[in-house]
Formats: sequence, C-alpha cells, structure tokens
Amino acid sequence: MIVRRDATKSHRVGRATLSDGTVTTAYRAIAEIACARCGHAIKPDALFSRQTRPTPVGAVGLATTTVPVCMTCRPLRLDDAGETTDARED
Ligand SMILES: [Zn+2]
Repeated sequence: MIVRRDATKSHRVGRATLSDGTVTTAYRAIAEIACARCGHAIKPDALFSRQTRPTPVGAVGLATTTVPVCMTCRPLRLDDAGETTDARED
C-alpha cells in the first residue's frame, strides 16, 4: 500500500501577525522544509509562515506558488493559536 505524504510536511497552527502588522497564517513543520528565502532548513516543530509569489508559466503569464518562509526571514507572533508555543525544544 502506497501512502503519499506530500501534503503532511506541516500543519496549520492558527492566525499570526508579522512584524509589519500583516496578518498571516502560522504553520508548524512536521518534516524538515527548506525556507524559500534563505534556504536554511525549517526544522520539525518549528513555526513558519507561507508566502505566495508569482511564478512564470511558460509564455502564458503568471501563476502564484505558495512557498514556506522561516521565522528568521519573516518573524511572526501567534494571535490565535490552538496550541501553545511554550514547549520549545531547541
Ligand atoms: Zn529563511
């Protein structure tokens, strides 16, 4: 039996606010993910946010791709978490 787990590298934590006041959604990594900005690993259990960015699609135009961005590149504060952030393990 083959189980695809592509979609389970992270789970949604809740609403968060970025340092510039923008409201976004915070995610928690389940498996290690690479930050799309700095390329550093987002470790399992680390919080991160996602950002949409335009991606060229052939000669036709642009699509948007959602990419993970680490807390160092884009610090965030949880507003509305269904879980606590107290149990940090690093
Ligand atoms: Zn980063």
